Amino acid sequence: MPDFNDYAVARRRMVQEQIAARGIRDPRLLQVMQEIPRHLFVDEALMSQAYNDHPLSIGEGQTISQPYMVALMTDALGLTGREKVLEIGTGSGYQTAILARLCDWVYSVERILELSRRAQRVLEKIKIFNVNLVVGDGSKGWPAEAPYDAIIVTAGGPSLPRPLLEQLAEGGRLVVPVGGRSLQTLYRVTRRGNQYVEEDLGGCRFVDLVGEYGW
Ligand code: SAM
Repeated sequence: MPDFNDYAVARRRMVQEQIAARGIRDPRLLQVMQEIPRHLFVDEALMSQAYNDHPLSIGEGQTISQPYMVALMTDALGLTGREKVLEIGTGSGYQTAILARLCDWVYSVERILELSRRAQRVLEKIKIFNVNLVVGDGSKGWPAEAPYDAIIVTAGGPSLPRPLLEQLAEGGRLVVPVGGRSLQTLYRVTRRGNQYVEEDLGGCRFVDLVGEYGW
């Protein structure tokens, strides 16, 4: 059974060739991506592909995002270590693990119970405990713990989910793909009082955000 230290060479190459080479500079983020064992978040049959430059199936019609997309979205959140972060779309839990190592606490919402359970098991195995995984429609956010310093959505919807904007703290950042079902634009939205400043971070392709404020 492969474990933590396996794939260390593949992981180093992933960080150098797919992430640093494409302009991600934050040393904390590069270090964490060097350390988190991505292969443990996929089925055993796919482990040898876990560090390749593309998303992979995690069952239930869902995917673990491409390593570079995880890095780009995390970088855009500008985490310093003190933040409370909300993630919509736990999926495999890989992005959750990266966030957990870079902020104070992560709340992560997943609509598919089986994926959330599996993610919980892997996160415990690698001793990440500053996370709360919950099951529900994350397009409505998680109002009980709002406001959040940063919110990341790892599934694409037709428009900016209003509850997520409302659950941002002052100065908080929301990183979210918005657009059509097959192609979206990645946005960073920063809250300044009642104003929301939008930045276009480029094209992307995500699975559907399914829910009241999604598809
Ligand atoms: N961050 C994940 C990872 O590293 O594995 C990638 C997740 S996958 C691209 C998107 C996830 O969003 C899927 O697991 C899907 O079930 C979930 N999802 C879609 N709509 C959702 C919703 N309304 N609330 C919560 N999760 C949702």
